[in-house]
Parts: sequence; C-alpha cells; structure tokens
Amino acid sequence: MSECYDYIRRNLEIIRKKIEKAAIKSGRKPEDITLVAVSKTVEPEKILRAIDEGITELGENRVQELTKKYDIISRDCNWHLIGHLQTNKVKYIIEKVKLIHSVDRYNLAAEINDRAKKIGKKVNILVQVNISGEQTKFGVAGHEAIELVRRIVGLENIRIKGLMTMAPFAANPEVVRDVFSGLRKLSIDIEKENINNIDMEYLSMGMSNDFEVAIEEGANMVRIGTALFGERQYL
Ligand SMILES: *Cc1c(COP(=O)(O)O)cnc(C)c1O
Repeated sequence: MSECYDYIRRNLEIIRKKIEKAAIKSGRKPEDITLVAVSKTVEPEKILRAIDEGITELGENRVQELTKKYDIISRDCNWHLIGHLQTNKVKYIIEKVKLIHSVDRYNLAAEINDRAKKIGKKVNILVQVNISGEQTKFGVAGHEAIELVRRIVGLENIRIKGLMTMAPFAANPEVVRDVFSGLRKLSIDIEKENINNIDMEYLSMGMSNDFEVAIEEGANMVRIGTALFGERQYL
C-alpha cells in the first residue's frame, strides 16, 4: 500500500467524524448517512486506496470517465452518475450504475426507462431539483418537481429513490442551509402525495464545503470529492 496516499485515510477519518457529529446532532445514526466518494479527475491509484479504506460508493459526473474507470477499477463497488446526463449517453452507463442522481427532465427519464427495459432491469434514480434557482445549475425547478415525479412514476423500469440538489457555492455554508431544508420539505410534500412506486429513501445533498449543514437538514447521502482526495487537477 503506497504511503504517499496516507492523506486519503486521514481525510476519510476527519470526514467520518464530521458525518457522525452532524448525524447525531440531527437525531440520526452515522450509519444512516451514505458517503459517495466523488472520484472525478482522480487517478485510479487514489480511488483504489479509498476503496481499501472502506469506500464502497463512487460518484462520477461524466459518462466517459465513469465507463473508463468502471473497467479499470475492477473492485466490488457501486457507481453513481451525479452529473448532467445527455439522453444519447444513457446507453453507455445503464448497466454500470447503481443510482443516477441527475434526472431533471422527462425525456431523459423516458430514455433511461427504454434502455432499462431492453436489459430487463429496473434502474434507480433521483430527481435533481434546482432549489436555489441559480441559473448555472441543472435540475427541475422546485415548483415543477412534483409534476415531473408524477410523470416519471408511469415508467415501469424506473424507480424513484429520492431527490438530489446542489447548493450554490458559499464560503459560509450557513448561507445555503435554506436550500437543503427546501429539498427536505419538497421530499416530504412528495411523500404526502402517496404516489405509488415511489420510495423517498434518499436525500442526496451536501459536498465538501457544506455536507455538515446538509446532514443537519436531513441529507442521508453526501457527495464528497475535494475533502477526501484533495483539490482536483483538471488536465
Ligand atoms: C464535483 C461534484 C461533487 C463534489 O464536490 P466537492 O466540492 O469536491 O466535494 C458533488 N456533487 C456533484 C454533482 C459534483 O459534480
């Protein structure tokens, strides 16, 4: 095991402690929170090291990178597509992912459903919601989310497992607390609708900069890259 990646173990220890503290603060158990290690731009050796330290969930935001790493990292782990997904690329990842976090429009859901049907699989998705309304963020608008959910549940080979959001970057994460509580409220509203075939199991929210606040507001799936692997090197 390479010693030069020891910082990954140390970072993970810090992250786990923070997750534990935030979970307890919000009346939950640390094991209720799923940590998705965001491995975009990270070299395979480092990802393997994280897996050695107990990481089982890996998040990638680009299809090409996910499929490439899926082949290289032949270990027992689960892949999450967390970034914007083009309809014509669904076919490349459909058999490889455990959860697609970024479904924000009906025609994408319909394509996922068609591809899933072809391989006889039910695919788990989250509906990505743009709670903050920030122009640069993907996601269905908050007030259109329930309508989108209603349409997607009609698709037999898709299972909605919850909601995902990205908060705007804020130096002080307190500023974006409302974004996280907003997603939680929306999730509760959707549950109240008692729609069949929906299981609001996951709230995927919180990144390196804001995951503690997100957990305090109800996140049970956090997506963490930089705090685990260090600053990304874009080549
Ligand atoms: C990159 C990315 C993350 C992780 O961001 P960090 O700030 O490095 O933790 C989480 N979610 C999505 C959708 C991302 O693209």
